[in-house]
This record gives sequence, C-alpha cells and structure tokens, in this order.
Amino acid sequence: MPTAHDLVVIGAGPGGYVAALKAAQLGMNVACVEREPVLGGTCLRVGCIPSKVLLESSEKFAETRSELARHGIKVASVELDLGAMLQRKRTVVTTLTKGIEGLFKKHRVTRYAGQGRLTGPGQLVVEGTDGANELTAKQILIATGSRPAPSKGVELDGDRIGTSTEALSYSEVPGHLVVIGAGYIGLELSSVWRRLGAKVTVLEFLPRILPGLDSELAAEAQKLLAKQGLAFRLGTRVTAARVEGTGCVVEIEGGEPIACDRVLLAVGRVPHTEGLGLDAVGIRLDEKGRIPVDDHFATSVSGVSAIGDVIRGPMLAHKAEEEGIAFAERLATGYGHVDYGVIPAVVYTHPEIASVGRTEDELKERGIEYRKGVFPFLASGRARSLGQTDGRVKVLADAGTDRVLGVHILGPRAGDLIAEAAAAMAFGASSEDLARVCHAHPTLSESLKEAALAVTGQAIHV
Ligand code: NAD
Repeated sequence: MPTAHDLVVIGAGPGGYVAALKAAQLGMNVACVEREPVLGGTCLRVGCIPSKVLLESSEKFAETRSELARHGIKVASVELDLGAMLQRKRTVVTTLTKGIEGLFKKHRVTRYAGQGRLTGPGQLVVEGTDGANELTAKQILIATGSRPAPSKGVELDGDRIGTSTEALSYSEVPGHLVVIGAGYIGLELSSVWRRLGAKVTVLEFLPRILPGLDSELAAEAQKLLAKQGLAFRLGTRVTAARVEGTGCVVEIEGGEPIACDRVLLAVGRVPHTEGLGLDAVGIRLDEKGRIPVDDHFATSVSGVSAIGDVIRGPMLAHKAEEEGIAFAERLATGYGHVDYGVIPAVVYTHPEIASVGRTEDELKERGIEYRKGVFPFLASGRARSLGQTDGRVKVLADAGTDRVLGVHILGPRAGDLIAEAAAAMAFGASSEDLARVCHAHPTLSESLKEAALAVTGQAIHV
C-alpha cells in the first residue's frame, strides 16, 4: 500500500526544502525526497555556502598578508593551512545541513532517501539503497535544481579538470589555474585561489565579464579584479581541455594552447531532469532542457509542479526559495506571488557586485527614459575608515515618475546594501523616497541615499 501525502517535494535544495517547510507550516502532510545523504542541495553542499566560506577565509588570508600593514598592524609571517581552511568549510556545511534536518523534524516533514521518479499522475517511487518506496501525493513538486554545464572538447576528469565542485576542495593551491567562463562561479572561485597564491587565467568567450550585469560596473569590476592579479583573456573561446602528463592543456580558437595545473569549467548550469520519469507522465522539456510551467509553477500534467533551476528564470537560490513559498501559499490559500522584477543578484568578489532591477543597458535597449544618480565609495567616510573605497552605487530612476527602476552597487558589502534597494523597489519607491529616508552615519548605506539624491543632482557629499 503506497504511503499517501498531501505534497511530495523532489529535491531538498533551497527551493525544495523551503517549499516543504512552508507547506508543513500551513498544515499539509509533506514529504521530501532527496538522493544525496545530506539536505540543502547544491547551494549548501557544493555551491553558495562552501564558496562563501572559502571567499571569507581567503580574503582574511590576503588581507593579513598585504592590507593590515596599512592599518599599522605588523604581522611577522603569515602561513596558509589549507587543510584547516577546508575543514572549517566542511564544518559550516555540516552544521547547516543538520539544521535543515532539525527543521524537517520540527515541522514533521517526512524525509525519503533515494531517487524520486514519477510513475503516474499523483504517484511516484523512491528508489533508495534500502529498496523502493511507493508514494501517492495530491501534489508533486519538482525542485531538482541544476548541475554544471558540460562544454564540448573539455574532458572533465573529476580532479585536474573539474567544475565548481572540485574547485571547492583542491588539496593544494594550484600553480596555474585556468578558469573557463567569467560568470559568477568563475570569478568567485578565481578570487579564492588567486588570494591563496595561484596564478589564475580567466578565459571568457564574450568581450566582457559577467554577462547580464550592468556593463559599466562589470567593466569597473574587471579592472579591480585584474589589479588583484586575475589575468583576463576576453573574446576567447575554449575548444578543448585535457590532462597531459601531470598537468593540463587548454586549447583556444585561433591561439596557442595554454599549459596549466588545473582547469575549472564554469560556463553555466543546466537543469537537472534525468531519471525523474518525466516522459512517463508526459512532461516535455523546452529547448533549454527546462520544465515548462505556467505562472503558478504548474506543468502540463495536473498535480505536478516545478520550481527553481529546473524552470525559467535566473538560477539563484533565493529565486527558488521565493518560488517555493509562493507555491506552498497558493496551495493553501489560493494565492501566491513572486515579484520577478526585484530579485537581487550578488557576485561575492572583493569588492562585491550587487544588482536589482533593470540595468542601464536594458533601459537603453528598451528606449526607457531614465535619470541616473551615482555616488562613489571614495566619498564615503565609512568606506574610507574601512580602507575600501573602490566602486560606486548607481541608482536608475524613471525620468517621468522618478520610480526606482534599478540599483547597481560595486563596493564593500554590496550584497547586503542591495537589500534596501530591493525593499524600496518592492514598495514602488521613487528615488526621492530613498533619498528622504534617514540613514545612520557613518554607514555604507548612506552611499545609497547619496546616489538617490544624485538622481536629481542633489548629492551632498560629492
Ligand atoms: P554564467 O552563465 O554566470 O557564466 C558563464 C560564462 O562562461 C559566460 O560568461 C559565458 O560567456 C562563458 N562561456 C561559455 N562557454 C565558453 C567557452 N567555451 N569558452 C569561454 N567562455 C565560455 O555561469 P556560471 O558562472 O557557471 O554560473 C552558473 C549559474 O550559477 C548562474 O546562473 C548563476 O546565477 C549561478 N550562481 C550564482 C552565484 C551567486 O549568486 N553569487 C554564484 C555562483 C553561481
């Protein structure tokens, strides 16, 4: 006799586990199927969290080595203990994954370990190491996420030539690391290994880094990252990469092959839909391998929905979480909504790059009249005291209504500062609204107020 649930979620990443918890909070009998031994998905196991741990640790190492002297602090010698750094990362990840286990218990979400496969409308089987479990559910939610995209000719060996997963655990600092792709993952992990002492070459097919982010800030970020020692080769298409002897060789179109010690492939991610039995229930993927859904995450099959990286939209943990909440709320109350216009994006380089809403490039392309206010961190007292004056805040507002259309920040703690801009935009704020809010002094957040003032040429400190 199959076990019956109101909702079965497949995948315990930020989309799936948040949807499961929310649905349980709202009174449903919920189960979550996960094939990995730990909960949390790519984000917790081999993505957002471990990369942030290493970014933080490597930043401390680089700062101690070369920045502290400016603050009048002399350090006799600084040594890297990579083993301890990687152990700390594992500890943080384990603590957080256990935290989700605790939340599942608290909210009585039943956990099934194994591969979930749809067998018919409202029916699925979980194939685990201890046999198969048959389940029935009024609703099934697919939240199986994504995996690193492969690239033709690049022979991944799971060690020297790998993806972000391997690059979070190199057992030694590579002499020369070649990174394919100057997107989020490429730049964050390049930063980690450069700070720890590797020579890093970033190969990017496009003529710019960070496609999709505001091009003005991306160009400024590129200069700052180059100063930190990242060697960029833009307009460079990688055609092959393979292990040769004790090193690797990367071939590029129209250029000499590059010899290196390790290769990180970071050319995007693809939805994870294999083995789900989608064919069996009649779900067809779109041209990008995603599961097509309507505005409320429903697939073409009644009672089967999907959220997160397996559907359209940016592949971001917080976007998946919002969708998980909206999905569960709609099941319980008939109403659930995600404001896709105000989903922030953050690149955790140093300085950080954060963005919400429309880029200046998009506004130009769409012929939308806008006004622009910019405030450089050079003019911020707090940024000066931190010794981090690179970058700026840019506020873009509608020329007619003054409504804030986009905010882009390159600078210290940009990822935290962007939250205020997102909240303001979610409430439909104008640049004047932002500018009239009292901001504590001296804080980095004053820079957002000043940039908002600059929209109408009224900035005080610049
Ligand atoms: P990405 O799409 O951000 O960047 C991939 C880059 O690789 C692009 O610039 C592309 O032009 C380039 N490229 C593709 N093929 C190439 C080739 N053959 N040679 C040279 N360059 C090539 O992808 P990513 O960095 O792998 O990140 C994947 C996803 O994970 C993204 O959707 C991102 O949103 C998400 N992510 C987010 C964060 C964050 O929020 N901080 C961090 C990591 C990943």
